[in-house]
Amino acid sequence: MFGIGKSRKRQWKAAFEKSQCSLCKEIFNDAHKTPCNHIFCKECILMAIRELSKCPQCKKVLNSTTKLIPDEDTQKIADADRIDYEIEDFVKSRGYEELSHNIDNVLTHFLRNKPNIDAGEARKILFQRQHKLIKQQNDRKYTLVLEFLDALKTNRIAEATKFLYESNEAQKDYRNYLQKIVNIHEDIRPPHLNGILGPPPQMGDFSALRIPEITAEDILKPRDQLMIKHFENELQNIRMPQYSSSNYLDEFGDIAAGICKYTSMSTIATMDYSRDGHGQSNTTNTPAVVSAIEFDKDGEYFVIAGIAHKMKLYDFDSVMDKPQAATPIAILPTTIKVSNVCWNPFSKPILATSYYNGSVQVWDCHASRILHTYTEHEKRCWSIQFNSVNENLMASGSDDQKVKIWSLLQGNSIQTIDTKVLVCCVHFNPATETQLAFGGSDHCIYLYDMRNLQKPVKILRGHKKAVSYVKYIDSNHIVSA
Ligand SMILES: [Zn+2]
Ligand SMILES: [Zn+2]
Repeated sequence: MFGIGKSRKRQWKAAFEKSQCSLCKEIFNDAHKTPCNHIFCKECILMAIRELSKCPQCKKVLNSTTKLIPDEDTQKIADADRIDYEIEDFVKSRGYEELSHNIDNVLTHFLRNKPNIDAGEARKILFQRQHKLIKQQNDRKYTLVLEFLDALKTNRIAEATKFLYESNEAQKDYRNYLQKIVNIHEDIRPPHLNGILGPPPQMGDFSALRIPEITAEDILKPRDQLMIKHFENELQNIRMPQYSSSNYLDEFGDIAAGICKYTSMSTIATMDYSRDGHGQSNTTNTPAVVSAIEFDKDGEYFVIAGIAHKMKLYDFDSVMDKPQAATPIAILPTTIKVSNVCWNPFSKPILATSYYNGSVQVWDCHASRILHTYTEHEKRCWSIQFNSVNENLMASGSDDQKVKIWSLLQGNSIQTIDTKVLVCCVHFNPATETQLAFGGSDHCIYLYDMRNLQKPVKILRGHKKAVSYVKYIDSNHIVSA
């Protein structure tokens, strides 16, 4: 090798190979063609001529008078491939491989990393990627539904065959037994027996049906059986007459694909959060138990908070570049152990924290400054959350059996729900300013409308232990744990 450029040893994918210079192993930079029709970066081939005086590929003699021709077509393809490759590389390393990621968000992060790449081109490639993903997701869904329906059909045929077999056997037993009685007691022959003692009753032509040797259980593994049972229930629900949707199989496909989508997770990076700003690992502190990790509204920064009497603010992109050496961009000192944090969904630097002693604080993270301290809860406050419609509203829930609604514009709470249960988690409905849910120690989830706090709108029962987590996944659905 000639020591040209930085020798980054990347695993080039087959798709990019035709754009790769065989000398520097990078995507062509100013591609030039030799008279022997071999293509290299201009800089690479010039250096090769100087040092070897021949084509590195076919060994044909070349010298300083050799005419090198710029290869614009190859360079054009290479430029497109470079963006493609950079995006693919970035998306993989950051874990943005799912459809759920907002393209603009990903693009912002990408351009922060690669400011020299044409934003329009990058956006186009991200869109194409998205389309490909949608197609793949649909293909997966179709395969899944077909496989399921096939298994269901096999199951049903096996069940039906079993029933036919059993009813055939039952009829045989019946006839044999009847025959026996009739033989023994010819005198008590009931009047209608004549018909029955003839050929078997024609409830179906059993003899025409070949009974398969294997049953459904043999065909499907027990785990799949569970899955099929689950899918069957979903399909039954969707097929209910009140849905009366002609494409219920499509709906079913979406549900089934959703269930099968996240069967596993993988780690994309591991960081050590004990490091302080100066890069030193700090182990002299209280063991740093983490109680909350939250990303800000753009996914740009995240905060780690816990019982270590300080919160650490990180820049996601820098952490991903060097996870092992990640250092916080700011350390926010807290005198009390933190139980929960929440970023303001409108105002980027605003962060709310709840504490083990019941207090609640609002921070300006970028200025490392406390804006408000509220001390009305009498016991540990477990949960704090901003309203997603009104940027000045927050709710908190505490062991003092109270849910409090706070306004950033005032120094005190503006509403209190006296709940009679220990409150473990509070969450606002993302679509309205006035609805919130909280989970209680009495195993129930309470839904309230803030315009009438006298009694809950609804109480959801079903948990067998305290509800430690509730979250609206959209305006109509809540997940709880
Ligand atoms: Zn090269
Ligand atoms: Zn050559």
